[in-house]
Amino acid sequence: MSDKKPNILLVYTGGTIGMVKDAETGALHAFNFNNLLKQIPELKLLDCKIETTSFKNPIDSSNMNPEYWVQIVDTIERYYDAFDGFVVLHGSDTMSYTASAISFMLENLSKPVVFTGAQLPIGDLRTDAKENLITSIQIASLQENNVPIIKEVCLYFEYKLYRGNRTTKINAEHFQAFNSLNYPYLAESGVHLKVKHEYLLRPTLNSTFKVHRKLDNNIALLKLFPGITPSYLNNVLNTPNLKALILETYGSGNCTTDTWFLEALKEAISNNIHIINVTQCVGGGVNMGQYETSNHLKHIGVISGKDMTTESAIAKTMYLLGKLESPELFKNKFEIPLRGEIA
Ligand code: ASP
Repeated sequence: MSDKKPNILLVYTGGTIGMVKDAETGALHAFNFNNLLKQIPELKLLDCKIETTSFKNPIDSSNMNPEYWVQIVDTIERYYDAFDGFVVLHGSDTMSYTASAISFMLENLSKPVVFTGAQLPIGDLRTDAKENLITSIQIASLQENNVPIIKEVCLYFEYKLYRGNRTTKINAEHFQAFNSLNYPYLAESGVHLKVKHEYLLRPTLNSTFKVHRKLDNNIALLKLFPGITPSYLNNVLNTPNLKALILETYGSGNCTTDTWFLEALKEAISNNIHIINVTQCVGGGVNMGQYETSNHLKHIGVISGKDMTTESAIAKTMYLLGKLESPELFKNKFEIPLRGEIA
């Protein structure tokens, strides 16, 4: 057996993990990535080789957008053969959106891409950044017979590894900032690092790694609320170039049965706008037809987001629109798992 140490590439995009406080205003802003490594001499003790690359201008992840997602997949593609695993440092605010998008943009991944970040900057005495970073690198280095164990886009935060496209940021205060309510965690870091092999994604053998860059963001997201007005819904549906509307409905996919509401959706569908149903609940999913208040949605051709997160539904919609599928194929592909994002 070869004793070759795994080669890991750290990709710094920005986020609290590498931020410093502005002396005058007290606000946090991103700083030079090289300083980040100086803060963690422990990295040298890890049983792997680490190289780093960084966004030219690191960003707070609230400024994240599809162009930056393309930058991330470009970096991974450029270094794909040279490295055994990738750890992407990213702000926690939009990390679930990015992890979801990257999961669709990288097809037939056979190496780990682990997203991580922190609630407190690495220089802070009580920081969660060191544990998150060190364990993410260890997870990305896990191998069996020189082959990476994890072959998907994941998110590591506060002792748990999750499938990236199943996560949601649930807390702006706690160190446990993320959760994955509809899919079990993939690994847990305690005294030992325990991987739940049965939940890992198994890519089809020998399929070629492929990068997708075309995303179409002519989409809208609308959270239903009691009292929503026809003019609000119609304004959203009349957005120029709109190709898809993700509806965050109540409970298991329910919405008002008011005629104006259903008629507006029906008309949008006849104008080739995809209407996608995801639930506002953080756990569970859409089951159109379970109640009368969702049955009509099924009949007019609304697409079921089942147990997908809103973050994943947004990413999948942009990805499938970018592929220019026919309306039928779009619906079929939306409702089946492409990267383990849906039941
Ligand atoms: N605002 C920061 C960001 O998302 C928060 C964090 O890094 O956790 O970039």
